[in-house]
Amino acid sequence: MRKNIVAGNWKMNNDLSETETLIREIKQQNKIADVEVMIAPSFTNLWQAFNSLKDSSVEVIAQNMHFAESGAYTGEVSAAMIKSLGVKTVILGHSERRAYFNETDEVLAKKVDAAIKNEMRIIFCFGEELNDRKSGNHEQVVENQIKNALFHLEASRFENIVLAYEPVWAIGTGETASPEQAQDMHAFIRKTLADKYNQDLADSVSILYGGSCKPSNAKEIFSKPDVDGGLIGGAALNADDFFAIVNSF
Ligand code: PGA
Repeated sequence: MRKNIVAGNWKMNNDLSETETLIREIKQQNKIADVEVMIAPSFTNLWQAFNSLKDSSVEVIAQNMHFAESGAYTGEVSAAMIKSLGVKTVILGHSERRAYFNETDEVLAKKVDAAIKNEMRIIFCFGEELNDRKSGNHEQVVENQIKNALFHLEASRFENIVLAYEPVWAIGTGETASPEQAQDMHAFIRKTLADKYNQDLADSVSILYGGSCKPSNAKEIFSKPDVDGGLIGGAALNADDFFAIVNSF
């Protein structure tokens, strides 16, 4: 059956020494729940984080990558570069990448293909904006985001794909989707996968919730049948809070 996953997205936070400190604190935590744990530091700290957590059960993952193999893309990082560190998973399609760095569905489809070509696991993020929710278009928006970036893939590729539903209005705002809103959307996503592929595939893909997930609400959200964990931003910057969420299953 599908896995429970909690991934911490550190975003553009923590310099090298702050990274070392937070990792030291993470190493002192105990994982009690049956869950895969991941953290995504910035590129400048990826190597350090990877080495420090090599022998632990916490996987170090990347926040982004470019779709090209190599070449004249100043400031960018390729899948092969990330893989050469030993890092095997990448977050793609985060709403901040979509909003501030013009990552369209088309660009994301290319990134997905590049990650797959390099045998990486993908945490693919998507989610509606507040306007979409208010106008009742949230399901359509999410369906399009998934279709446009992922539905050209063969079914077998979904073994390496984790989905993360992150309503934009809930990210970093303190406003969380209610557990029912999360469950409804996750069930809709699973149905969308079943309609395009098949029920077995839909049942095997982990779907994470993200957006102001914290120790006080994680248990209720994770208890929903179609919610398989969380992608955590702000609360992942504190080891106690992060592990309180990790142990919320
Ligand atoms: P947040 O961010 O937990 O700070 O809302 C979640 C995310 O952007 O992945």
